[in-house]
Amino acid sequence: MFNKILIANRGEIACRVAATAARLAIKTVAVYSDADANAKHVAACDEAVYIGGSSPKDSYLRWEKIIAAAQATGAQAIHPGYGFLSENEEFAQACANAGLVFIGPPPSAIKDMGLKAESKQLMERAGVPLVPGYHGANQDPALLQAEADRIGYPVLIKASAGGGGKGMRAVDKSEDFATALASCKREAINSFGDDAVLIEKYVQRPRHIEIQVFGDTHGNYVYLFERDCSVQRRHQKVLEEAPAPGMTSEMRAQMGLAAVAAARAVNYVGAGTVEFIVEQRPDGSMQFFFMEMNTRLQVEHPVTEAITGQDLVEWQLRVASGEPLPLMQDQLQIQGHAIEARICAENPDNNFLPATGTLHVYGLPACTTFERADGGVRVDSGVRQGDTISPFYDSMVAKLIVHGSSREEALARLDTALAQTHIVGLATNVQFLRHVTTSPSFANADLDTALIPREADVLFKQEKVGLGLACAALVAHTLVGEQSLAATRDARGWIDPWAQRDNWRSHGPSLRSFAMEFQGQPQTVRLTAVHDGDVLLQVATDEAVLRYKVLSSGALDVAWGSQRAAYHVYKKGDVAHVFTARGATQIVAIDALAHAGDGVQEGGRLTAPMPGKVVSFSVKAGDKVHKGQALAVMEAMKMEHTIAAPADGVVGELLFAPGDQVTEGSELLRMEVAA
Ligand code: ADP
Ligand code: ADP
Ligand code: MG
Repeated sequence: MFNKILIANRGEIACRVAATAARLAIKTVAVYSDADANAKHVAACDEAVYIGGSSPKDSYLRWEKIIAAAQATGAQAIHPGYGFLSENEEFAQACANAGLVFIGPPPSAIKDMGLKAESKQLMERAGVPLVPGYHGANQDPALLQAEADRIGYPVLIKASAGGGGKGMRAVDKSEDFATALASCKREAINSFGDDAVLIEKYVQRPRHIEIQVFGDTHGNYVYLFERDCSVQRRHQKVLEEAPAPGMTSEMRAQMGLAAVAAARAVNYVGAGTVEFIVEQRPDGSMQFFFMEMNTRLQVEHPVTEAITGQDLVEWQLRVASGEPLPLMQDQLQIQGHAIEARICAENPDNNFLPATGTLHVYGLPACTTFERADGGVRVDSGVRQGDTISPFYDSMVAKLIVHGSSREEALARLDTALAQTHIVGLATNVQFLRHVTTSPSFANADLDTALIPREADVLFKQEKVGLGLACAALVAHTLVGEQSLAATRDARGWIDPWAQRDNWRSHGPSLRSFAMEFQGQPQTVRLTAVHDGDVLLQVATDEAVLRYKVLSSGALDVAWGSQRAAYHVYKKGDVAHVFTARGATQIVAIDALAHAGDGVQEGGRLTAPMPGKVVSFSVKAGDKVHKGQALAVMEAMKMEHTIAAPADGVVGELLFAPGDQVTEGSELLRMEVAA
């Protein structure tokens, strides 16, 4: 086994690898960029080497610097994590040339699986079932059109070099094919530097089910069962689980053997994932087809660890150091059910636009263990409270993994864990994830890749904490803040809001009012003392007695009329962030809202909603545009965002060029709005 390894990555995966290394008494070397000088992964490793600027191309992708760092620190091997250099065959080869072990497959296997079209040709020869389609080398548009017509619509055009959900176009009918092909090729050349495409039949209501495989240097192969990653947004995974609901043992064995055949065909070594698209037939049967192989550890590997009780990073380290696989196929078993939720800095209500900012509050559920979520909760996180989510890297901040004896138990545990995840400072998908996990489709395991759009009505803008309780929580929080040391409590421990050192009295005209804003609506909240000592809280037309006390957890126990809940309230400026077991919301204390109304829309200015890179402009100066028309495309944190015209008008000057980095709020182009 190695004495020291370098981790050529950042964020949660670098911390994850460091934890297993520490358990195995292997020393770790971190590498970091400017933006990550104080990052958690640097603290998680025994030593750290600075490798350059914040942009990945200046640091985490500079493999000559990474190899030099490994050599300078005496590391024997490099763990690439996922993303960055993990699927770069040249890097794997350069490690070998430098006498370092690349903790991953041989360069030849990365190459064979690197392009979707070539890997499908290989898989065809290995007898692995493929989605009906075309994956030949001839890229003549007329031939591609003829192939699509032959396959039958709808079809999916995919960039052969694509990844991360990019470079795909669904086409519904023959007439639309040529335009879609041109646009797919444009995106492919821009994003991946290679415009070769393949065509697949577009599978209806498909599920994404993948198989974890492992090979060693002694020719042994196993599969560690499946993960269902059907719940996606923008073709990117959001929730993953294992085992896949509805999977029969026959189908599991067939898929497992097909995945092992795929791995064997490329002499695979280490951890890999064979992704299949699964067609759900009206008669309830399922048919699987090879999609691609990811030649690295996958983001969602913890669900497999939870159901098998194995630490896959430990397996990677053992295999890379020449040991045989820790277990053979007949020693592996599935125990219970595991689900992972990806917590991302993004705004689900605004098309999942990535968000940046500081984690003022970063409260996570209590965890049982690191490597295993055995009957409990595991959090793999790359950040700490106070850290900043920068625009340079992807938007995933943490993964929440739960395990239970059944899917229902895991689901219930996940909902509780999400409710205990309190993030203040930037937009996240935490509440959205709760809506997904409690939606009827997800709860009943009625899964397919379109679950999110299909359930849009119940998923977006769902408010589970109403006006009354939100106001009650904010009033209670304010009063607790004002509470003097002499606060008195009644026999049941409720705080007496009249026992305060301010100017209001429990006799005479005891009335206090608070101005608030909830969901954009101003609200006046009144507190009145009544003669039996109770306090009435009036919100809109509702009035009821308010009681509250501070629990030992720091939460506020608030009762308002017949409703009662435990609240965590965090005030940031004027905004109170309210978290409850049922959901979370925000409410604004209006006193300090004097500046409200200043944010008048500035006509004609189109600004970057996030820091990032300008990908393209789809208009030029002088163009007439209509409301909603796409003007420009920006990219940040693996996501593309289209800037649309707010109204009909004429485009003025373009203020940046494609490829330029812009800060949040930069004016991208001018537009004259039609009168
Ligand atoms: P999974 O491991 O579940 O397949 P993703 O498909 O989201 O996860 O990709 C895993 C990692 O690979 C991401 O975190 C990201 O860093 C990297 N990655 C994948 N595709 C791209 C891409 N097109 N551009 C940049 N990074 C990518
Ligand atoms: P990437 O390299 O971006 O991960 P994949 O080929 O793995 O690309 O596909 C990503 C996602 O796109 C899948 O998980 C699935 O949701 C969808 N998809 C891919 N191929 C098809 C297909 N033939 N029919 C329907 N959906 C598909
Ligand atoms: Mg994929």
